[in-house]
Amino acid sequence: MYFSLKQRRLVRNTFCGILFSSGLGFGFSRAAAQPAYRLAPEKLAEAVRLEHIRTALHFGLEIWLIVALFLLLRLGLCAALVTRVQGWTRRVWMQSLLFSYLLILVLYCVVELPIAALGHRAMLAYGISIQGWPGWLRDQALMLGFVILIGTPVLAFIQWLTRWSPRRYWLWAWIGSVPLILLGALILPSLIDPAFNHFEPLVLTHPELVQQLERVVARTGTNIPPERMFLMRASEKGNGLNAYVTGLGPTRRIVVWDTTADRIPQDEVLFIFAHESGHYVLHHVALGVVLGIVGTLAMLWMTAALAEWLVKRRGNRWQVHSLASPVGLTLLLLALFALEAITEPVGNSISRAMEHQADIYGQEAIHGIVADPQSTAVNAFNHLGQAWLEDPHPSAFVEFWTYDHPSTEQRAQFAAHYDPWVPGARPRYFSK
Ligand SMILES: [Zn+2]
Repeated sequence: MYFSLKQRRLVRNTFCGILFSSGLGFGFSRAAAQPAYRLAPEKLAEAVRLEHIRTALHFGLEIWLIVALFLLLRLGLCAALVTRVQGWTRRVWMQSLLFSYLLILVLYCVVELPIAALGHRAMLAYGISIQGWPGWLRDQALMLGFVILIGTPVLAFIQWLTRWSPRRYWLWAWIGSVPLILLGALILPSLIDPAFNHFEPLVLTHPELVQQLERVVARTGTNIPPERMFLMRASEKGNGLNAYVTGLGPTRRIVVWDTTADRIPQDEVLFIFAHESGHYVLHHVALGVVLGIVGTLAMLWMTAALAEWLVKRRGNRWQVHSLASPVGLTLLLLALFALEAITEPVGNSISRAMEHQADIYGQEAIHGIVADPQSTAVNAFNHLGQAWLEDPHPSAFVEFWTYDHPSTEQRAQFAAHYDPWVPGARPRYFSK
């Protein structure tokens, strides 16, 4: 899990939805007279079209995943697959592994891959991605490899749990998920991310930038040594700008894309870095992991309840007589993904609130370092929005439901009006 400066709505959330009280809205108004984030008219038209594509793909992926699982059950395809696997081996654990492997393979190739390809086609058409199809396919194959490697034993383990403890399997599954979530956050930056992108210490190519960043580090008291600042060569694959903080404990680090470091003014890079430092200082990664663990418990409990209800109502028609079976696992996944889709705004609301905190922190942190923090932040959001072709005015519903960051216009608007150094105002995170 990481917190980045840019919405990543084409990437599926790897955590189960986080179930927590929302009501973490923002205090800034949408109805501003002067837009703070501006696009040239032809770019604006492109951004609006791309926003529609992004939204369609986002909901398309969620709905198609649920429909595909439903069809596997309803058409008896899942039951046929189980019969086939049982013909290959008599060992139950081997059947569980084989079935889990095939189910992941089918779902990835039939659901994930086509939607991801449509997304990539749009990113190429709008000039956001420059990665050719062979390289893109290689990345997809690699991702499938990771999903199979991690997902197959996990799904087989869940099948074993449903047999071993038919009433409390969801609780045991949750206990088992805790070390997995921690391990995931720990190894994501050091093992999985480098398989997809090239990383190097930021100081190797941008020593003067590191020097300036050290000023922000000193002001924030973050003790982020240059060894924890990395440059990612994003320009090999696209034109988007980004920076993020990721990892836990010994693997915690700040990553700046080379597009960000090379293509926008240094003051704006300092603001982006300060925003990322905000996630670091405000413990957002650790908080995200804790919320992920608590949210997973709620999600698994609800999944079990919904799955049992579905067995009672649809068991005969779908040939699911018990959850303690491979077909039962498919039904559990159907319940899980349906609940994830429904509870999506909860996690996104929490994420948006954290991003807003980091925006405030970032703007306060560069006070005294850059000449004008307000216009620096506004310009940074403009560069960011233009690079990703962000729609200045997404629909309020789409933003509430799918955005893990506030919209670019909202962020720029807030930055333009946020000045806690005027008499009578008080900064939230810094005393001077
Ligand atoms: Zn952020």
